Amino acid sequence: MVNSPAVEILAIAAHRDDAEQTCGGTLLKMAERGHRTGILDLTRGEMGTRGTAEDRAREAAEAARILRVGWREALDIPDARVENTWENRLKVARIVRLLRPRVVILPYWQGRHPDHYTASTLGYEACFVAGLKKAPLEGEPHRPFKIIYASLYYDVRPTFVVDISSQFEARLEALLAYRSQYEDQDAGKGLFPARAEIRARLETMAGFYGLLAGVKYAEPFVQKEVGLVEDVTAVPVSSL
Ligand SMILES: [Zn+2]
Repeated sequence: MVNSPAVEILAIAAHRDDAEQTCGGTLLKMAERGHRTGILDLTRGEMGTRGTAEDRAREAAEAARILRVGWREALDIPDARVENTWENRLKVARIVRLLRPRVVILPYWQGRHPDHYTASTLGYEACFVAGLKKAPLEGEPHRPFKIIYASLYYDVRPTFVVDISSQFEARLEALLAYRSQYEDQDAGKGLFPARAEIRARLETMAGFYGLLAGVKYAEPFVQKEVGLVEDVTAVPVSSL
């Protein structure tokens, strides 16, 4: 289809910069392998301690460019008030129908920030609604083949990790594109790590998940469904 916004992989996240933090390396890696990717941010960041929603929109576009994301938009769900309502499910389902992703990446369903775990359930249920023929939505019904959960924000053993050793630097760069958030400044000084610490933190996290699989850096994912296997010799495992 000419000008189709369709993507193969869609990450749905509560806040701009969540996808960069939890699955940015994976999105870049998939783009490098020829898969078209997308990010749907549910909120626009108007409640943030630092910067305005307009700052964050510009920064999100720059981060998407660095990660070679083919499509990115933000919905107008209120920041710090992500709720799993029918209205919000329809908003997300409309995008799922438009983009028709084969794989959807959601936040893990437990966590500290209510927006994150609510986005998880909201995203899951929206994917279901998108597939209902009689849902009050324009477009053809579509249900993703697979939903996986980016679990970096929560201490849980991943089902699998993606090797992002080659994408690590770009992912860091994408996160630092959020200058209003991560540039050293006075506002929210006690809340935000200094820019110098960010690299160390990302290295530690990605290094930990990399270690689980015998690679330098990795991003963790949880899959709820049981994997279906034809050939046991072909199941990927870490080299440990
Ligand atoms: Zn967030």
